[in-house]
Amino acid sequence: MDELVPLNAPRAHPAPHLDLLGLLPPELEALVAVMGEAPYRARQLQSWLYARAARDIGSMTDLSNSFRRELAGRACIGRPALEACREDQGGEAAKFLFRLPDGERVESVLIYDGARRTACLSSQVGCGLGCTFCATARMGFRRQLTAGEIIGQLLEIGVVLRQRRERVTNVVLMGMGEPLLNLEAVLRSIQVMRLVPGPGIGGRRITVSTAGHVPGIHHLARARLNVGLAISLNATTDELRRQLMPIAHQYSIADLLGAAQDYFDVVGRRVTFEYVLMAGVNDSLEDAGRLGTLSRRVPCKLNLIPYNESGYDTPYRRPAAHWIQRFRAAVAAVSPVQTTVRDSHGRGIAAACGQLYQQHRSPRR
Ligand code: SF4
Repeated sequence: MDELVPLNAPRAHPAPHLDLLGLLPPELEALVAVMGEAPYRARQLQSWLYARAARDIGSMTDLSNSFRRELAGRACIGRPALEACREDQGGEAAKFLFRLPDGERVESVLIYDGARRTACLSSQVGCGLGCTFCATARMGFRRQLTAGEIIGQLLEIGVVLRQRRERVTNVVLMGMGEPLLNLEAVLRSIQVMRLVPGPGIGGRRITVSTAGHVPGIHHLARARLNVGLAISLNATTDELRRQLMPIAHQYSIADLLGAAQDYFDVVGRRVTFEYVLMAGVNDSLEDAGRLGTLSRRVPCKLNLIPYNESGYDTPYRRPAAHWIQRFRAAVAAVSPVQTTVRDSHGRGIAAACGQLYQQHRSPRR
């Protein structure tokens, strides 16, 4: 494993007034109109922010000095500062640690898979949902990310990839935090990703992953953004799910199946049920049979994810490789649903959400 490489010192950010990052084209137009500038200035700003990934207003050299000065008096670019990057030696993934303007930190992961370059972005600092198998849960909830801070992670990863003449092709909101509990910022960031050249990532290549917040699923469906939805299931009985994921006290598996059906009815896309396989916890053949049966009740896909135990102390273990295949076969025996095993890319760089943060702050690192 490569050492954690400090990249650049955290930058001082301007006072937290209007953040340009996260503004949509009509909002940029309204801003330049208020400032008495011509509409084409909004297109220039948009290009600097999203296509050229400018980090500060002063670097926008084709804008007049007076416009830049006035803009800097009203607004800032609240972009996260890339503090560390770690790449696994197998070339499967890279992990990024960002420092936010207020000193908080979040992580993102870039996953290499053939020609696909998937950026896994965080939506909150920490998470309040307390899933027992998750490193981020240990932080607790600290604060929501802004749309600009979500987009900023994507832009920084894009800068790194551009040096290799590559670009981000897919986005999953599956890093730190529960995206559906920060819906306003998440929806805005998705709109920017879809609409604005630069990120330019279509809805079909964006996936929102939820621990199973049912009202949020209904809301996302009606936002008509045409994004994919992944629901972390992780158990086939409500009793076990409540032990692993406290949110299951609020929403049962039946509720999740109903929400998945609703999502399909409104958006026309099958949801993916994610199932983190933990040895001796949820990987029995009875679990496999129940998972297969559940999956037949709604239009869906299944994704089995062997637990990622690297990087921090955890009581959970990854099942043996032969058992993972046996579990998958047992699911397939009762269900025709497409079932994939997605190994946790970048196990060597602690790719499960929250692990790099934990290592970075732990004296035992
Ligand atoms: S798994 Fe996701 S929802 Fe659960 S605590 Fe971790 S970040 Fe939050």
